[in-house]
Amino acid sequence: MIHAERSFWESELYDREFDLIVLGAGLTGQSIAYFFKQNNPDKKVLVLDRGFYPIGASTRNAGFACFGSVTEHMADMQIEEEANIIDRIRRRINGLSLLRQTLGDENIAYREPGAYEIFTDSEAYEQALDQLDVCNRWLQQAAGLENVYQKTEHNGFPAISIQHEGCLHPGKMMHTLYEKNLASGVEFRWQSQVNKVYKEDGVLTLENGFEFKGNQLAIATNSFTSALLDDVEIKPGRGFVFVTKPISDLAWKGTYHFDRGYYYFRGVEDNRLLLGGARSLDIDVETTTEFGTNEKIKKHLISFANDVLRLPTGWEIDKEWSGIMGFTTTKSPVLKRISNKTTVIAGLSGMGVALGMQLGREAADLVIK
Ligand SMILES: Cc1cc2nc3c(=O)[nH]c(=O)nc-3n(C[C@H](O)[C@H](O)[C@H](O)COP(=O)(O)OP(=O)(O)OC[C@H]3O[C@@H](n4cnc5c(N)ncnc54)[C@H](O)[C@@H]3O)c2cc1C
Repeated sequence: MIHAERSFWESELYDREFDLIVLGAGLTGQSIAYFFKQNNPDKKVLVLDRGFYPIGASTRNAGFACFGSVTEHMADMQIEEEANIIDRIRRRINGLSLLRQTLGDENIAYREPGAYEIFTDSEAYEQALDQLDVCNRWLQQAAGLENVYQKTEHNGFPAISIQHEGCLHPGKMMHTLYEKNLASGVEFRWQSQVNKVYKEDGVLTLENGFEFKGNQLAIATNSFTSALLDDVEIKPGRGFVFVTKPISDLAWKGTYHFDRGYYYFRGVEDNRLLLGGARSLDIDVETTTEFGTNEKIKKHLISFANDVLRLPTGWEIDKEWSGIMGFTTTKSPVLKRISNKTTVIAGLSGMGVALGMQLGREAADLVIK
């Protein structure tokens, strides 16, 4: 990082007070900026991020445009009240249609190739089938959708099909949103690591000592929030994903869930398979904000690809990476004003593709103009 005093001209350019400063250029942060600017075209909006590009989860996720599998909903029943689960499903479905409407299906490579939850354990399958009616009622109540989950078989596995689930290209999603923000006059400063938030004053200080002042602040740092605001409790969760080299006779071309949503896989362009998850295998080690590969999880996912998915011999990993999610204890996100000048949006709990834009729009309405 270069350190240099500011010139007279630079001070005029940069030492301005913004109407809104958003910290975090992920899907949530950029959506707040976008909707605030749409509603207030004359206001000055700045987005800050520590990376060259957003470096958290929004460009590193698996691209599922989903609202939950049956076993994921069943696990949620253990930690959350029914009304809150239905509300979250509603927000996810609204969020997905807002995302598609705002960015355009073609721009984000949205498609619905067929979605399934698969089972290898007959007892778990029976328990899930027992809950089909409950889950279908929730979807009906949340979004007016009928018979979303249906008993079926897929690639020889007992399965539950999921109507209306899709997938997209997270890189294209973020790029399209960035272009829209630039076109509407939102400013960005990349490589700006904030180390302190003065929530009562609307001030952010960077690690290089620079200071930014906003009439309003929106903190959208998801898993990294607790490092900046000790009264907001968000637990990090690292997720690991890989994409294979093309596999000519790939049998898995849809979007798939396994074991409460902990495992997920889908077909991507050129007959490649994306496979990720299994955080549940080493949950304490994966409760971290550090990027990196857990070799135990990687090895396990490779076995899963061979032994369960039966990928043809000779398949290879082309690219592997990790990303960091942010969890609340109930999985319901935090969206609240923590002072007259500061709003926090965090804890999207692994569902941010669906929730990010919806929460961003809700937060933009909450910020005082
Ligand atoms: C491996 C993986 C797979 C996933 N798969 C899916 C999926 O298929 N479907 C789905 O719906 N969801 C999925 N998710 C979750 C989804 O990606 C997230 O919920 C969503 O992207 C969160 O968006 P966000 O903008 O709130 O946070 P982020 O995208 O994490 O953005 C936070 C931003 O804040 C910045 N930041 C943090 N601290 C500071 C600081 N001190 N100073 C400056 N900048 C800072 C970071 O650089 C980052 O860009 C997945 C997540 C992971 C990790």
